[in-house]
Amino acid sequence: MHHKVIQAPSEFKILLDRVGKDFSLTQGLGGNSSYKAGGEMLIKASGMRLHDVDNPNYFYRVGIHDSDYFELPGSQAGKPSIEVFMHALLPQTFVLHLHSSAGVALSMAAGNNPQLSARLEQSGVALIPYCRPGEALKQAILDALSSGEHSAFLLQNHGVLYFADSVAELEKSISRFEGLWTELLESFGSYALAPNDLSKELSESESERLLWQAANNWRVSPDHCVFLGETAEEWLDQLAKREVRAILGMSNRDAHLTVPQEQLLSFINVALSCPLEILPTLSLLEAQELRGWEAEKRRVSLAAQAGSAN
Ligand SMILES: [Zn+2]
Repeated sequence: MHHKVIQAPSEFKILLDRVGKDFSLTQGLGGNSSYKAGGEMLIKASGMRLHDVDNPNYFYRVGIHDSDYFELPGSQAGKPSIEVFMHALLPQTFVLHLHSSAGVALSMAAGNNPQLSARLEQSGVALIPYCRPGEALKQAILDALSSGEHSAFLLQNHGVLYFADSVAELEKSISRFEGLWTELLESFGSYALAPNDLSKELSESESERLLWQAANNWRVSPDHCVFLGETAEEWLDQLAKREVRAILGMSNRDAHLTVPQEQLLSFINVALSCPLEILPTLSLLEAQELRGWEAEKRRVSLAAQAGSAN
């Protein structure tokens, strides 16, 4: 059988470029996107940034059948995002998953607050309790899919999953959700730093709030555990500083943010927007496993570098 390779519509790429460059919506390698047509799906490849849409290897092509994906014959560069299964589960043409600061903070706050989760439900967003990626999360998403009409799912301690059959509809869902967050922030006390705010200083009460959140709610999401490590104690000295650049450990004024620094900046945003309550976080055991996973990857890559330098 001969057929044309599917291409993602340009308006979708334009949206991904914009969303991927908005720090409140995307940090580091977080977030992923997909497009379905003719029994196939283009899924963002692992290791690509969300806005890397012009990279010829941005999308990885898979087949889809019965809410699952499968590898197609022929070779391709890269690997699909590890969250590919979520994209395959959803029947909609366009799927966009963001680890946005608002998504993470709101998902934590709503897990502790039935009024907030009811407010989300009214806005067409279903809150899905935290599950480890794999079978449990798959089942939770399937349950949410059969629970009624929604335009997005908020995955607790993780992020937002948007789905629609048109790019316009997808954009509408994003602005609706982020708008809800802006509205709610008035009751939480607002905060959202961007990479061009590095020279800003936190007030004393903001700095105290950050320290409190780091001590009590540091196991925010898998990304935060992976990139920021096992305990907040390691960064308490940094977090006690007031200038954002100093908190991030940046001495060079011209340096670009590294992925862990982007994660730390997003943690600051989440921490400053969340209520001062013990919120549902990842278990200590899971956080330790996630940290070990990143440490192992780093060891392997350092060993490979040392090997190639010889
Ligand atoms: Zn995710």
